[in-house]
Amino acid sequence: MRTIRVEAPAKLNIHLAVGISRPDGYHDLESIFIALDFGDTLRFELAGKDGETGVVMRGEFEPVPPEENIICRAVSLFREQTGFSSGIRVLVEKRIPPGGGMGGGSSDAAATLGAVNALAGGPVNRTTLAAMGAALGSDVPFFLEQTPAAWVSGRGERIRPIPAPASCYFTLVNPGFSSGTAAAFRLLDEFRGDAGVVGKPGPHETECVNALAGNPRDWPFANDFLPLFLRDSTAAPGAVYRDILAQLRDLGAVFAGLSGSGSTCFGVFPAREPAETAAAALSRRWALVKTAGIQPEPSTT
Ligand code: C5P
Repeated sequence: MRTIRVEAPAKLNIHLAVGISRPDGYHDLESIFIALDFGDTLRFELAGKDGETGVVMRGEFEPVPPEENIICRAVSLFREQTGFSSGIRVLVEKRIPPGGGMGGGSSDAAATLGAVNALAGGPVNRTTLAAMGAALGSDVPFFLEQTPAAWVSGRGERIRPIPAPASCYFTLVNPGFSSGTAAAFRLLDEFRGDAGVVGKPGPHETECVNALAGNPRDWPFANDFLPLFLRDSTAAPGAVYRDILAQLRDLGAVFAGLSGSGSTCFGVFPAREPAETAAAALSRRWALVKTAGIQPEPSTT
């Protein structure tokens, strides 16, 4: 039986500037995405009755019901657009916290499109696959590109590959609650409306890309969602983010931020040891040390 195994990496948004709401309801972004040497593992095989998609999730997190599962939605979209009808079985080792701003669902969706296309004999080219990815979610095109880092713009579909930061250790800290993307964008619009702010321009693309190659101490990066959450620092999530970010800085992080629209915070360390010490200090929460990395090409066993 042919099985395709795919490593679906997590991402971090090292920088995330959000523009005003567009007529289609989305927001233009300017962001630096990096892939991490950590993620979900998915195994795909042709099995079961025609038209059937079976997904089994293993791991410490609550499994997502099939109707809401982006893996099922990715297979359905592929079936609709190509007429592919074979039964598919998917086994997922889920390690990326759902709703954690690390692109777990989007990375699984990209892995699914690539694997199902391979199992179907490759009927779909890269451009069409990218369009299917964008239809599934704004972060999916980044993962389809399989680049270690990218300058991402538009709604998330414009990807310019760039080199990943070298010699950085990322202490990832997930507070144990998820953050809803659509709600966060809505709140950001309200927050800006009330404050009379219209997404002030952030640092320029060239400045950001050059800074990423330099010392993280000098990174000019920010996440536009963070001031929104931190405005109420007496209750969750603001109080929690404030506490985690302060601890990371106290423990020697040269940069600390929030990924996506939350909920995972990260600290950047120039060496592994202080990064591990910080993860141990924060281990009451989900905390891991990872570096920038990229998943290998799908393998067949
Ligand atoms: O594309 P995705 O399904 O991940 O987006 C979830 C929601 O987040 C969208 O429905 C939209 O409200 C918001 N969003 C946005 N601008 C983006 C990406 C997402 O407003 N660039």
